[in-house]
Amino acid sequence: MKNVVLLGSTGSIGTSTLKVVADLPDRLRVVGLAAGRNAGPLLDQIRRFQPEAVCLSDPAAAAELARAVGSRPAVLAGPEGLVRLATLPAADIVLIAIVGTAGLQPALAAIRAGKDLAVASKEILVLAGEIVMAEARRHGVRVLPVDSEHSAIFQCLDGRPAASVRRLWLTASGGPFRQTPKSEFAAITVERALAHPSWVMGRKITIDSATLFNKGLEMIEARWLFDVEMARVGVLVHPQSVVHSMVEFVDGSLLAQLSTPDMCLPIQCALTYPERVPSARVQTDFTRIGQLTFEAPDEDRFPALRLARRAGTVGGTLPAVLNAANEVAVEAFCARRINFPAITETVARVMDRHQVVEHPTLEQLLEADAWARAAARSGR
Ligand code: NDP
Repeated sequence: MKNVVLLGSTGSIGTSTLKVVADLPDRLRVVGLAAGRNAGPLLDQIRRFQPEAVCLSDPAAAAELARAVGSRPAVLAGPEGLVRLATLPAADIVLIAIVGTAGLQPALAAIRAGKDLAVASKEILVLAGEIVMAEARRHGVRVLPVDSEHSAIFQCLDGRPAASVRRLWLTASGGPFRQTPKSEFAAITVERALAHPSWVMGRKITIDSATLFNKGLEMIEARWLFDVEMARVGVLVHPQSVVHSMVEFVDGSLLAQLSTPDMCLPIQCALTYPERVPSARVQTDFTRIGQLTFEAPDEDRFPALRLARRAGTVGGTLPAVLNAANEVAVEAFCARRINFPAITETVARVMDRHQVVEHPTLEQLLEADAWARAAARSGR
């Protein structure tokens, strides 16, 4: 039996994770749940999964929830509450599925408390991948990918070292604007950007999939998770989203992981690792899929890929700056303050103004993150 703490339980990854837990009652038990401010859905989850402790980032919502649940579970609040949840003595594995970087401190606390980590929140590896991976090595804990692309690579690598890799190939659906001419990008609405062709996901990642920043963040995430420099991380557009990613080995052989898209599969892989456990959820019928196609990404229409490659190659504080500026720009786009091309323009502008710090400390990364948010908001 593995005891699971789930941060971001009311979101898209969070609810899929709870489906996997419900599928495997003899193997997985929820001991902690956290959400932002959505007390209603969290209360339903508490009744169903009976955790020891829960957390809401919003203190007022947490106080209201505490009145509703009585003495159990313990109701925690704010960033300190997340850290306490991530270090619960009973926890074996902490799955982080909070949008953005609020999961970073709980991730580091969990590692230092000897817990394995399952990471969906790619932003934390983009911000502080070097530090997170070094801490995990120091404390002898696993960092297991939940992102479907990284789960695919993890499964294909199966423990082989980075020296056996010629190239990692991340696949990308191409998003809703794969075939849209650049001349129409300025007129793209929030509603159109939120209509993803293959996956149903949270708002931020759906917009990131439309700009291809999601793939850019994943390139940097892969660089840290698998200790492979950016020059060996490639992207292929694969609209069917059946090949979740591939590893090309030094002898020229390629291994890929395939299935019809369903996030429950990589979540289950991470939570039950190193075992493979039966599940009836995913059935892949190649006769219905018919064909698998691949094309090179268009970096002229989607400069996010070029920006991410630059950030990952330069390293230091630049990936943190890319990530923070992108978060602010996505919020501004969703609030209809800027148009679709301005998301990428904002990130490029803020990156150009940044003075990179090499091998930064956590404090320097957080400073760079705060600087980039302010710079992105200032519009200069
Ligand atoms: P959602 O927007 O659907 O859910 C976000 C979750 O985080 C909600 O439970 C939300 O709670 C919670 N939350 C937000 N802020 C805080 C906070 N400060 N403290 C605690 N909880 C908080 O996002 P997704 O599930 O789509 O994505 C989560 C992460 O996983 C992202 O980093 C994304 O990039 C990554 N990911 C997602 C995939 C997907 O298929 N969706 C695939 C691969 C990676 P509340 O409901 O109260 O707001």
